[in-house]
Amino acid sequence: MSESLLLIEQSGAVRRIWLNRPAARNAQSQQLLDDLDAAFEDAKADTDTRVVVLAAKGQHFSAGHDLKQAQAERAEFTVEERWAYEEKRYFGYCMRIWDFPKPTIVQVQGACVAAGFMLANMCDLMVAAEDAFFSDPVTHTMGAAATEVLIHPWVMGLRNAKELLFTGGRLGAVEAKAMGMVNRVVPTDRLDEETMTLAQQVAKAPPFAMQILKKSLNRSVDVQGMRQALSAHFDLHQLSHLSEEYRQTKEAGLANALIKGTKA
Ligand code: ZN
Repeated sequence: MSESLLLIEQSGAVRRIWLNRPAARNAQSQQLLDDLDAAFEDAKADTDTRVVVLAAKGQHFSAGHDLKQAQAERAEFTVEERWAYEEKRYFGYCMRIWDFPKPTIVQVQGACVAAGFMLANMCDLMVAAEDAFFSDPVTHTMGAAATEVLIHPWVMGLRNAKELLFTGGRLGAVEAKAMGMVNRVVPTDRLDEETMTLAQQVAKAPPFAMQILKKSLNRSVDVQGMRQALSAHFDLHQLSHLSEEYRQTKEAGLANALIKGTKA
């Protein structure tokens, strides 16, 4: 087995799970996603853990899916293969975090882009460093209809989501807080500590009451159709993977991304 791409830190009733591929800006490879899903399952089973914090080592939370690996291993995927891969690892793993029966808090610094944006927004609360920025540019860069889980309008409002996605632009931490997507903005060098303080506060509540409170809060958007909307978007997102636009822009976009990667 290869070495885990995560670090796990236990602090009383709080378990902090760190993405640990800083040299790759925490790009989400297949192994990282599988490790992360397993780590959440462990945290779910551990009765001493009441709150999970999702964090990332290095300057950036996550630059998105690992496009180098995607190009090398999955460029020739059939419709069936891509569907199975993305339904399990992109849509399925994300929704398991959304449905995780304990409160989750994400701490974000630097880039929180594309699949990084999607992953971070599966958590219940978000603490952002002052240097954090958010973006989902894949419609512009790859011709894909956003990322697999269209969580955007549910966490930032429809009009803000449209602007972010239509422009492919960046959103700063303070702007994201004003939109209601971020709970707290903290100095970058205090991100770890401030997030842990918040997590310890949440962890004081009796865990069963907290579990059913979270379930009820999530149901308040389920009754508005969130789950059905996300599921329907996943289907259409798959269609966008098959378009001529996707083929052309993916080739241009991936090449650009690789050039940028060598300059960084
Ligand atoms: Zn996709």
